[in-house]
Amino acid sequence: MNSKHSFCRSVFFVLLAMLSTNKKERLQKMKEIDISRVIIEEYSRRLSEHLENDVVIVGAGPAGLAAGYYLSKSGVKTTLVEKKLSIGGGIWGGAAGYNVVTFEDKDILDEIGVTTKKEGDLYTADAIEFATALAYKAKKAGVEIFNLTEAEDIVLKEETVKGVVVNNASVRMVGLHVDPFCISSKYLIDATGHSAELVSMLKKRKPELFPKELQEYFMNVETSEAGVVEKTGEVYPGLYVAGMSVCDVFGLPRMGPIFGGMLKSGKKVAELIKNKLKI
Ligand SMILES: Cc1cc2nc3c(=O)[nH]c(=O)nc-3n(C[C@H](O)[C@H](O)[C@H](O)COP(=O)(O)OP(=O)(O)OC[C@H]3O[C@@H](n4cnc5c(N)ncnc54)[C@H](O)[C@@H]3O)c2cc1C
Repeated sequence: MNSKHSFCRSVFFVLLAMLSTNKKERLQKMKEIDISRVIIEEYSRRLSEHLENDVVIVGAGPAGLAAGYYLSKSGVKTTLVEKKLSIGGGIWGGAAGYNVVTFEDKDILDEIGVTTKKEGDLYTADAIEFATALAYKAKKAGVEIFNLTEAEDIVLKEETVKGVVVNNASVRMVGLHVDPFCISSKYLIDATGHSAELVSMLKKRKPELFPKELQEYFMNVETSEAGVVEKTGEVYPGLYVAGMSVCDVFGLPRMGPIFGGMLKSGKKVAELIKNKLKI
């Protein structure tokens, strides 16, 4: 090999090395990949940590969020799944889109820092402030929330509910044939609102447990506010109901846009489960 040829070869390898270094640097500078990686890793870590739970709540309306807040505050490992993107359930729209919510008393609202106004026998609060404060307090207390996650079935073994079968809500929305995964619970709470979806799933396969149609009765605020709290509880080993689901399961009257019963029901279900867990 002559010296000219050898010089060209050296230059070629130096250029190649420079190019590959530049490429490496360019790859390292791809911030987009770093962003994607941390999101995927963090979400996967959280999901994996919450496959086993003391309590799983389905539905992030006022009842589910209140239950999550009181359970997590006492150190109970709690996961909440919500099929919609936003959490808060029926809070946001108040009544007919007038975003004011009403309550008969304000102890829980004071506790979570919501501003109230006394109007005759009732207290009013801003629906947006209520939804965000409740969600914030629940989250800060430690409840792990997976939104865009829909419960599609329950796990039942030895006549006891042991968990929930979930899927990505957008998969369900477009009806794709994609398998779900499971999250285990010692206690599962149906806080799905009017549809009482988990109880409906149980009733479908075990109709003898709930012989009557799951349906709330005509509106009657006085009886329903107390009734929803009184009837909040375990409806099958491992399965509890809270919030408007209680009205559907027990045929209680609907109660209109008054949210105190939802909060008290969430608090009560948390107390019942804490007792079972001896906390
Ligand atoms: C049509 C309509 C009628 C209403 N009527 C009344 C009434 O009669 N009385 C009354 O007090 N209030 C009524 N409201 C107001 C309001 O819905 C409730 O008071 C209150 O929000 C119920 O609280 P909750 O926590 O029980 O359930 P919701 O606030 O309804 O929250 C339930 C949550 O569960 C989620 N969810 C449901 N199924 C699943 C699933 N399979 N997987 C994951 N998440 C799920 C929902 O997306 C929702 O966010 C009504 C609202 C609507 C839209």
